[in-house]
Amino acid sequence: MKRKLFPLLVGGVFCVVVMSLYRMLEMMQGAELQHLEAPAGQDFYRLQQQIDKLERLLSANNRLVVTLRDSLLHRQAPQGGGGAVNVSAGSAHSPADAPPGCRLAQGMKGRADGVQLLDVYNLLPFDNADGGAWKQGFEISYRGNEWDEQPLEVLLVPHSHNDPGWLKTFENYYQDQTRHILNNMLIKLTEDSRRKMIWAEISYFSKWWNDIDEQKREMVKRLVGAGQLELVTGGWVMADEANSHYFALLDQLIEGHQWIQRHLGVRPRSGWAVDPFGHSPSMAYLLKGAGLSNMVIQRVHYAVKKHFAQQQTLEFLWRQSWDSSPRSDITCHMMPFYSYDVPHTCGPNPAVCCQFDFHRLPGGRAMCPWKKSPQPITEQNVQERALLLLDQYRQKSRLFRSHVLLVPLGDDFRFVEASEWDAQSGNYQKLFDYFDQHPELHVKARFGTLSDYFEALHRRLDAMGTALPALRGDFFTYADRDDHYWSGYFTSRPFYKRLDRTLEATLRATEILFSLALAEMRRFRGDGLLVADFPVREHFRRLTAGRRSLALFQHHDGITGTSRDPVVVDYGTRLFHSIMNLRQVLQSSAHWLLLLDKSQYYHNQSKPFMQLDDVISAHNALPLKTPLALSNEPRSLIIFNPTEQLRSSVISVVVDSPDADVVDATTGQPMAAQISAVWAEPTQASTEQFQLDFVAELPPLSLVVYHVTKASFGSAHRARYTFHRRGNPPAVQSEHFQVSGLERPEADAPLSLSNKHISIWSSPETGLLQKLRLLPGPVREVQVQFLWYGTQRNQDKSGAYLFLPGEEGAQLYSSSEPPLVRVSRGPVFSDITSCFRHFTHTVRLYHLDGHAGRSLEISNMVDIRSEFNRELVMRLVSDVANGNRFYSDLNGFQMQQRRTLQKLPLQANFYPMTSAAFLQDATSRMSLLSAQSQAVASLRPGELEVVLDRRLQQDDNRGLGQGVTDNKLTASLYHLLLEDRRGGAEEVGGASVEHMSLLAHLTSLSLNHLPITMVAPSDSQVPKLRPFLPLRSSLPCDVHLLNLRTLEDSQESDSPSQEVALLLHRKGFDCSSAPQAPLQCTWSAQEEYSSLQVDLDRLFSPLRFHSVRRSGLTLLREDDQPESARQPAPPHVARLRPMEISAFRVEVA
Ligand SMILES: [Zn+2]
Repeated sequence: MKRKLFPLLVGGVFCVVVMSLYRMLEMMQGAELQHLEAPAGQDFYRLQQQIDKLERLLSANNRLVVTLRDSLLHRQAPQGGGGAVNVSAGSAHSPADAPPGCRLAQGMKGRADGVQLLDVYNLLPFDNADGGAWKQGFEISYRGNEWDEQPLEVLLVPHSHNDPGWLKTFENYYQDQTRHILNNMLIKLTEDSRRKMIWAEISYFSKWWNDIDEQKREMVKRLVGAGQLELVTGGWVMADEANSHYFALLDQLIEGHQWIQRHLGVRPRSGWAVDPFGHSPSMAYLLKGAGLSNMVIQRVHYAVKKHFAQQQTLEFLWRQSWDSSPRSDITCHMMPFYSYDVPHTCGPNPAVCCQFDFHRLPGGRAMCPWKKSPQPITEQNVQERALLLLDQYRQKSRLFRSHVLLVPLGDDFRFVEASEWDAQSGNYQKLFDYFDQHPELHVKARFGTLSDYFEALHRRLDAMGTALPALRGDFFTYADRDDHYWSGYFTSRPFYKRLDRTLEATLRATEILFSLALAEMRRFRGDGLLVADFPVREHFRRLTAGRRSLALFQHHDGITGTSRDPVVVDYGTRLFHSIMNLRQVLQSSAHWLLLLDKSQYYHNQSKPFMQLDDVISAHNALPLKTPLALSNEPRSLIIFNPTEQLRSSVISVVVDSPDADVVDATTGQPMAAQISAVWAEPTQASTEQFQLDFVAELPPLSLVVYHVTKASFGSAHRARYTFHRRGNPPAVQSEHFQVSGLERPEADAPLSLSNKHISIWSSPETGLLQKLRLLPGPVREVQVQFLWYGTQRNQDKSGAYLFLPGEEGAQLYSSSEPPLVRVSRGPVFSDITSCFRHFTHTVRLYHLDGHAGRSLEISNMVDIRSEFNRELVMRLVSDVANGNRFYSDLNGFQMQQRRTLQKLPLQANFYPMTSAAFLQDATSRMSLLSAQSQAVASLRPGELEVVLDRRLQQDDNRGLGQGVTDNKLTASLYHLLLEDRRGGAEEVGGASVEHMSLLAHLTSLSLNHLPITMVAPSDSQVPKLRPFLPLRSSLPCDVHLLNLRTLEDSQESDSPSQEVALLLHRKGFDCSSAPQAPLQCTWSAQEEYSSLQVDLDRLFSPLRFHSVRRSGLTLLREDDQPESARQPAPPHVARLRPMEISAFRVEVA
């Protein structure tokens, strides 16, 4: 006890001293800056020097405080007592007392309430039996008197599915179809108040709004107010739910909801997702958090639909797997039949339903493929037609528990012509009138919106005293017929799936720095105004455009890779331009924040003060590092740490000298560095460019400055290389580096690398990983393999959507000539690179103390442009005894258990992986963390494989009309983590809920939010820069700052308000795999996990909040806590529930 108390005491005293010094310096600085404004003579220079000195001292102290605080916290933690600075109601814990931290996970294990989709999968035979008229279902019967007491209430919901890009670009669809659809909607709904319509895609709606005049806008508002037009979901797009990350999913929802609130003053109540290729509970969580009460989903495996129809569970309360309460429940309606078009929505028989799509009347362009055309409704046929339709309605109604029936009326890009409105509403009105005139039929039908339907449903359920069943799980992997599983799109166009995440990380970093810069400016001026030279509006417009590009790409034909080639180019160009534009905002914000003398700020768009250290030349190119010219004058490197954690990171830049020094610009302290070769060819090192890597200690959200100078010969540690190639030793050119080990006698010995935590052994022949040892544990089997999948030889072949591999399964990758293997060893990192014809594969170990040293970095550069109908896979083969179970993430938000089932075809056992997957047994867990979305499977025990790229020559008959052959040189990045588990033996049965470990969370955070390196100009006139340290300590390691997003001014459009959306995600985590050495951060105690009070002022100190108000996830005003709950002065307290995202409307300074 004494031993622990002493450093604590010393640390505490030190903190107090440093803090008072800080206050004093701050006061002095303020006073002296005032003096500076007066005309000064020779004193000026001396004064400036003094300030410089003080600044250096101040920064050094600040950073020391951050480091000290972090280390104190983790030292203090094992005692488990209170007193943690961040958390008021609990305590900080370290892995030493791990089990209490797992109560949440434990509490969730084996929950039996409601329906668990994994159990349904175990139960179903997947026999694809012929169901008759409803091919994938069954014959539905009824007596006819079921509705005598409670009449059937039918709500016909007109809709038009508008893809923001697919066969045409967003712009072309808008010009050719969408604007006409919306214009007609306005006229036709105004004509007849009985007509209704729903609209989902705000990207289109907002574009159209900009085109229409004030009078039309007033008409729109009237229609919305009268309940004739309903905006459903209200997202920027109808988002993909497999590949999209929850940051982007939420951001596109915020963008849409904010637009709706501003222009229409309403909020969406019901969700509508009829086309995404499978459905995720993460989306359900976000919709619920955004204040929606209901949702509709459609693309669900046909066998699951049939089962749910038999059980009358097509309507259910979708509950999060991890939620032990009904808090996350949202009412969900699953459409029972094959599609959302008219033939598949009125009832089970498409041949009949198609006759009630009056857009397909004879003489028009559209027809019914079932050979029976619709007929206009006349006095002569109305009885026969009405009864035919009623029969379908009644059959469909038997699949649901209430007597309210939802019948969508629409299809892709419907109501382009005004005449379609006349045809649909005229004919249906006659049928509705007929029903009204015949009360003996016990049916009422009318046009309605989605919320009309759900209101009626809830009314009926309440009256019946019936509650809907709860359901847990997800709806992947989707199959629409036979063995046609939609697992191809989990990987299609992987280049853009990765570019998406690059934009996402850039956007988040920019949002945070921009918000902080604005807050600092207001504080600096003291009058709440911004600095005149800072292009606030321009930058806010860039930020908005960036948000919208990322949002647009979340569309279910965007990030999925299922658009035509020119549309892919259009998306890619938008992503690329947004990254470029956001970088300007980022650079400019960092510039202002770093300047010691703010009066030196200027904005020059064509020649920014600082620039990122890499260049992306086009939408289809990978980033390329810009070589830095070094001299004896120090070059300033500015590093931004976009994570809320203090981290040791390896910063990598390209320089023009093999000798360089890196020092911390504030303290002058030299940093550990390594010079490596830049390989122009696999065996030829560049003589002009060199890679400089150094270890940077980066406080949370900080901007830190380093100086790089050209050093004397031999000053920096250079990497040493060995080359291997079986049979044919390579000739290596590398004049600045030591090369050895060409084909020596011991060449059969495995190649090995190790750092403090891990040792690895690789094949001398291929360089691929074979064994791994987590020190001090035993040597484990972990092999890396590469394999090819081909496609079926029959008519149905893989395409952009479908994965239809040949019967032979995966074939081991083999090459005619042995690969070149290059091993590099240095003090900062060591790696093994294998150069194969179709890919370059690198496994790297960092020699770092922090969490970065505890995982293996894997990177691939893939090029399969020469191939024909092939998919390349990376497979890990381990000795983990996971049986047929593994876990993959859903949208980076939660983990979902997967079961590999032999009764399903191979392609059905592939799942989306947005950021993580793991295998585990009683004693260990192997996690693969990724920086891009792709397909994942565990086909045999111990195995985990990811699909890297796919090149497919043909269309797969889902409307796209082409294959995927626009492959590019594509990068992928991972961290592989092996962890010991304790108490994991119970993990064998049940649909258990699992979380990533804290170490895995931190590793994933670092992987997805790499430090951003900027370079200042080389001239000696560089103004004085000081580090920017907005946080005094790291956030607890289970709390993630999802975003700090400046909101738009409510009066002045395109301008930032003083309000910022603070989005915090408290992650669930697993403690059975606590790391051997403790982590450098604390986490919240779980004893009171449901009511954890967090003091935001202490969490974000010295960042200050003027006021804090909790709001809904999309920051709608009506979701705000009442004015009385506003917290104008400290303490600003927030409740953070585990697994949950919390949104606050704050004013920050
Ligand atoms: Zn669509």
